[in-house]
Amino acid sequence: MKQVAVLGATGSIGASTLDVIARHPQRFRASVLSANRNIDALFALCQRFRPDLAVVADGAAEQTLRGRLAAAGLATRVASGNSGLIEAAGGEFCDTVVAAIVGAAGLESTLAAARAGKRLLLANKESVVMGGALLVEALRRGGGGLIPIDSEHNAIFQCLPFGKTTLAEAGARRILLTASGGPFRGRRREELTTVTPDQACAHPKWRMGRKISVDSATLMNKGLEVIEAHWLFGAGAAQIDVVVHPESIVHSLVEYPDGSVLAQLGSPDMRTALAQALAAPERIESGVAPLDLIRLGQLHFEAPDRETFRCLDLAYGALEAGGTAPTILNAANEIAVEAFLAGTLPFLAIAELIEMTLMKIPSAPASDLDTLIYADLTARNEAQRIMRRSFC
Ligand code: NAD
Ligand code: MG
Repeated sequence: MKQVAVLGATGSIGASTLDVIARHPQRFRASVLSANRNIDALFALCQRFRPDLAVVADGAAEQTLRGRLAAAGLATRVASGNSGLIEAAGGEFCDTVVAAIVGAAGLESTLAAARAGKRLLLANKESVVMGGALLVEALRRGGGGLIPIDSEHNAIFQCLPFGKTTLAEAGARRILLTASGGPFRGRRREELTTVTPDQACAHPKWRMGRKISVDSATLMNKGLEVIEAHWLFGAGAAQIDVVVHPESIVHSLVEYPDGSVLAQLGSPDMRTALAQALAAPERIESGVAPLDLIRLGQLHFEAPDRETFRCLDLAYGALEAGGTAPTILNAANEIAVEAFLAGTLPFLAIAELIEMTLMKIPSAPASDLDTLIYADLTARNEAQRIMRRSFC
């Protein structure tokens, strides 16, 4: 029986994870659940899954949840804050960690899981973008292994021989990351000046949290995924290409020197990646509808529009600059997306704000966690300052 910590249990990936876990009560138990501030949702999940430990944002939420659990006669312990998450990820209550917190807030718990040798099922791409080098080192020392949950990276993982995690080890030449193109695919810049958060979050193929939905609309999601692929598969920027594939059926491809190109296909539903990662190397039922290629009829592929969706090249630039540049890119993006969702920053200003922040803060070697946290904070402050001065 695998004891699974679901960090970010109340989110979109959290819900898909718990759906797969609930289908296999003989194999998996949700032993740790975390949420930020949605205590009602977390309490309901505790009633259903009876975890050993629940983690919430702060002391006040901790008190509230503890009181409700006690009143309901549940023995679940409660912890809070980043320290609670770090202990939960690295501690005794789990052997597997699903890292599904959104944003930089997931960095330290991801690293803690890797360091402690847990089997790390990673959805929280921002933590790899920020701390890729540290994560690779923590995984090497911890020895628990990582299976990517991001559908593209999970596809690549499946297209490499099991147990070989880098392109070099697998003898592979190139990665083709597929991108749906998001809700604004085919639009020109001038058609995007007034788009709203709800329009940006209306993704044609995937139901996801609002932050990643906006990232998909700007193509920053694909940019973050290029950086993620670099760290997870030891691929240089020149070995990672992006192909727009609006049907979101081919989740990504790996090219080998003999001309073979291996792809993983499936309906766009994150439960496939989660079931694969939870059970690997075995295969289990995920609840995902079977793929009907005849009904689909056609699959399309095209080049990304890099002029309109500038975030993709900003991410390639940050990857090539190295050091803290991806951390700065990620922090500025989080600030920009938050402001866009709050209605205070226009859609097209997201890329501008990120570019201005990257120009303002020089990249430094990303040697330790303190350096990353400092770079993250500095970039957030700078992005806020630029936003007040140039966009409000
Ligand atoms: P979401 O917004 O639906 O859920 C986020 C979860 O993180 C929630 O449980 C929330 O309570 C928690 N959280 C948010 N801020 C927090 C904080 N400061 N401290 C602690 N917990 C916090 O997001 P999601 O769509 O499930 O995405 C989660 C992660 O998975 C993201 O990094 C995203 O890029 C990645 N991902 C998501 C999908 C998808 O289909 N949703 C696909 C691929 C990758
Ligand atoms: Mg993805």
